[in-house]
Amino acid sequence: MKFLLTQELGRLAKWLRICGFDAEYFTDNKPGAVIVAALKSDRVILTRNHHMPRGRGVAIIQVCAEEVQEQLIEVCRNLHISPAAADVFSRCTVCNEVLQVVDKASIKERVPAYVFETQDRFFACVKCSRIYWQGTHWQSVAQALRRVAAN
Ligand SMILES: [Zn+2]
Repeated sequence: MKFLLTQELGRLAKWLRICGFDAEYFTDNKPGAVIVAALKSDRVILTRNHHMPRGRGVAIIQVCAEEVQEQLIEVCRNLHISPAAADVFSRCTVCNEVLQVVDKASIKERVPAYVFETQDRFFACVKCSRIYWQGTHWQSVAQALRRVAAN
């Protein structure tokens, strides 16, 4: 399932990507443009905009929760989906690209020394070149996802 999020849901887009979902963040808030983009790439629209027109062959989910983890729970419940542990951190949180496993030796100069010493698996985004690893916030994300799964 792929998503298109409107401009008020930037944090949720990031969290959906952390969970491994394909989540496009769309900053043009004109309803017509949002719908055309969603139809073109076969995405479910997630929005807080109450003026989004209905009935044009596109699924629109109104997100009501204020807090991002609550929003994630709301979307998962609504669509009967849940984040898979294996997919966590499989996408760039900034560009939505699928991350590639990279050779540890090749990124030595690009990560802090202590990270290089303590981590073995590194992933990179082909688009923005950001490097990812199972750092400290991995734990807090795992915790948050357990909370989502429990709901
Ligand atoms: Zn990226």
